[in-house]
Amino acid sequence: MTDHSQARHEGRIALITGANKGLGLETARQLGARGATVLLGARDLRRGKPAADALAAEGLDAHPLLLDVTDPACVADAAAWIDERYGRLDILVNNAGITGAFSGPPSAATAGQLRKVYETNVFGVLTVTNAMLPLLRRSPAGRIVNVSSTVGSLTLNADFTSEFAGYNLVTYQSSKTALNALTIAYAKELRDTPIKVNAANPGFTATDMNNHRGHQTVEEGVVTAVRLALLGPDGPTGTSQDDTGTVPW
Ligand code: NAP
Repeated sequence: MTDHSQARHEGRIALITGANKGLGLETARQLGARGATVLLGARDLRRGKPAADALAAEGLDAHPLLLDVTDPACVADAAAWIDERYGRLDILVNNAGITGAFSGPPSAATAGQLRKVYETNVFGVLTVTNAMLPLLRRSPAGRIVNVSSTVGSLTLNADFTSEFAGYNLVTYQSSKTALNALTIAYAKELRDTPIKVNAANPGFTATDMNNHRGHQTVEEGVVTAVRLALLGPDGPTGTSQDDTGTVPW
């Protein structure tokens, strides 16, 4: 499989959700640096515009786009804006995510706490993907990257001796498991089209999400998402990957 991640990708239109900071912002920067037009989805333009302006000041073709993934009307407006301005979308990175305030064991969780995390990490991805699919279908090489997490891997979680044994955050972890299931479902539906759908696992990365306790930099954390966003025609679909290769579902 050819690695296209260092090539130039002039003229490609990329939308990254939750791109005003953290991994999303760095994904936008890396895709923009390879020539793509990057649309920085942000649920609050007071955060999204300065982020896009900073990338534009670096010479990138970067634009803010109001996009709250939990608000279907807002998502529809964003899709209409992209349609009017570009007529298609080449890359969708479903990056926006939350851990939620809850951090106890499953027996202490409520359905409401679970639902809150799913609204963003799962339902939001479905809403955004379905709104953007007509635009992605017009691309000669549509790519969808779902930013998942190795803590959502059922295989790794079911191994009580693994490095995840002490980690049991049911709200966040199961939301990423569900996101993995969505990844497979879309890859299956779209397997006879040029659109490739894969899950990227960043690894533990220092961002606001973990009060910057992660051991990786954002530059390291986005390597897989960028690579999967820029997959060539011989690239895989329906896989979960990190920077070392395949992550078990
Ligand atoms: P972050 O710094 O907290 O960034 C999260 C981004 O998502 C922010 O831009 C946030 O916007 C946005 N967001 C949250 N809810 C949203 C909504 N309803 N609509 C639109 N945007 C929304 O976290 P991060 O570490 O960069 O996380 C990015 C992705 O990587 C997440 O999906 C996360 O689960 C995943 N991940 C992270 C790590 C890690 O170690 N950092 C590891 C594995 C996976 P606001 O600024 O408005 O809140």
